[in-house]
Amino acid sequence: LMGQMMSMPLLISSVIQHAARHSGDTEIVSKRVEGDLHRTTWAAVEFRARQLAQAFARLGLAPGDRVGTLAWNGHRHLELYYGTSGSGLVCHTINPRLFPEQIAWIANDAADRALCFDLSFLPLVEKLAPQLGQVRHFILMTDRAHMPAESSIPNLRCYEELVDAEDGRYVWPEFDENTASSICYTSGTTGHPKGAVYSHRSSVLHAYGAALPDAMACSRRDVILPVVPMFHVNAWGLPYSTALVGCKLVLPGPHLDGKSLYELFESEQVTFSAGVPTVWLGLLNYVGANGLKFSSFKRTVIGGSACPPAMLRTLMDDYGVEVIHAWGMTEMSPLGTLSRLSSKQLKLPREQQRHLLEKQGKAIYGVDMAVVDDAGKALPWDGRTSGNLVVRGPWVIEGYFGHAGSPLIRVTGEDGRDAGLWFPTGDVAAIDADGFMQITDRSKDVIKSGGEWISSIDVENIAMAHPAIHEAAVIAVPHPKWDERPLLVVVRKPGEAGAALTRESVLGFYEGRIAKWQVPDDVVFVDEIPHTATGKMLKLKLREQFKDHKLP
Ligand code: ADP
Repeated sequence: LMGQMMSMPLLISSVIQHAARHSGDTEIVSKRVEGDLHRTTWAAVEFRARQLAQAFARLGLAPGDRVGTLAWNGHRHLELYYGTSGSGLVCHTINPRLFPEQIAWIANDAADRALCFDLSFLPLVEKLAPQLGQVRHFILMTDRAHMPAESSIPNLRCYEELVDAEDGRYVWPEFDENTASSICYTSGTTGHPKGAVYSHRSSVLHAYGAALPDAMACSRRDVILPVVPMFHVNAWGLPYSTALVGCKLVLPGPHLDGKSLYELFESEQVTFSAGVPTVWLGLLNYVGANGLKFSSFKRTVIGGSACPPAMLRTLMDDYGVEVIHAWGMTEMSPLGTLSRLSSKQLKLPREQQRHLLEKQGKAIYGVDMAVVDDAGKALPWDGRTSGNLVVRGPWVIEGYFGHAGSPLIRVTGEDGRDAGLWFPTGDVAAIDADGFMQITDRSKDVIKSGGEWISSIDVENIAMAHPAIHEAAVIAVPHPKWDERPLLVVVRKPGEAGAALTRESVLGFYEGRIAKWQVPDDVVFVDEIPHTATGKMLKLKLREQFKDHKLP
């Protein structure tokens, strides 16, 4: 017997239509690159998203075409999210913190047909434009008054002019909910960055899941300020979840320092936020140094890197802000687990509660997780046994954009039965009997600094191109502000050139070859780098050896 319910596709356009219809006058406040504080509403965002959809059609873009963005959190970026996906185009948010060559590589890999960018990225895009052969339209996300008198980009278009030229009489099209809605690239694996292609269905389901009370608990009564950038896994889905519940949204623009954030939190009476630990460190330093308190801030999601226990305590005890520690990844849209207590756990002594809150938390419905051994066999949930963390679910990828092979692995249950295909996260974790997951290590060979990836391969390859370096390994060492920073371990080449190598000469070699924040903090010289039997560098051993290394 088949169900007899309407089969309405889960489309991103339905989310913004719902917001416009039911929370039409609710505000979206944006700190803009131009310097002003801009106010609009969900109804206006939806209307302008329709105008944008018309503009893209007029420019000749067809469903499935990718539209790249290089932009901070702001209302125009939000309009682009909906104007592109809603009309069947694919929204491709690009991380502007990457090295220019990486940005060009990613835009070309995704075959972006249009590129929309904030005023602050004009010099960057002017430099990159000649390398972006597939981009037909360069759109500066500003108004006529802020357009440059001249630019090396031929036919540079003005966002506001494109929008203004349309009447907004556009009907959101209906199509298959499995159609691609957006792409995010991650360098959190190895080699070149890879694209995770989300669908309308996966994005809408994720937005539902994220809004649940034991996930991010988004409500119409909240004022939500995503500090996590809209180019970082779609700001963890908040541009969708906030529309779905119809709450006020505050978009902080480019300035994410403690002072700018604090002022915005207070002036807009923000109740809920989300970001990586490094951001909260900046905010807490500012608030602490100036003896300030928050008058409305109640909860925050901290994720992207492990939340330091001291930060959790300070926010909860000194400022009364509830911390929701969360874990996820680009390949998971990104939400996987969140640390929230059950009524049973709320009866535990405070110290034990905190201990649980420091873990990465419980899976939300929609995410299945397991820890497995190297052969893919499931391990017990006893809180002690660590294994490779694997996941599956409707918002987990099954492949990467343009890659034929599958990243999934076969898992066998504890009972020995085939448990199907799962996505290996590259994280190592233990899960306790209550389902609280704790990350204990990472098997993937990358460094995460301030919530952003540094590819160890890229950093090693540059060192290996140095004529006096025999072998080089990059490892992550713990850092109080950035969580992790790269340390370069070098074996000199025999002879004079090798002997003459210094820390400074090696670091100097990185200039212009990689983004400044990706350059290692320090260099250590060793006689030998340990290897496995198959000749791979034994990073685990190096990490152990240098875990207490004092960075300058
Ligand atoms: P995001 O930064 O949004 O989580 P990424 O794909 O850039 O997404 O990074 C995902 C990886 O970051 C995870 O596989 C894990 O290694 C690390 N990570 C994310 N959240 C946490 C956390 N709460 N604790 C420890 N590591 C985390």
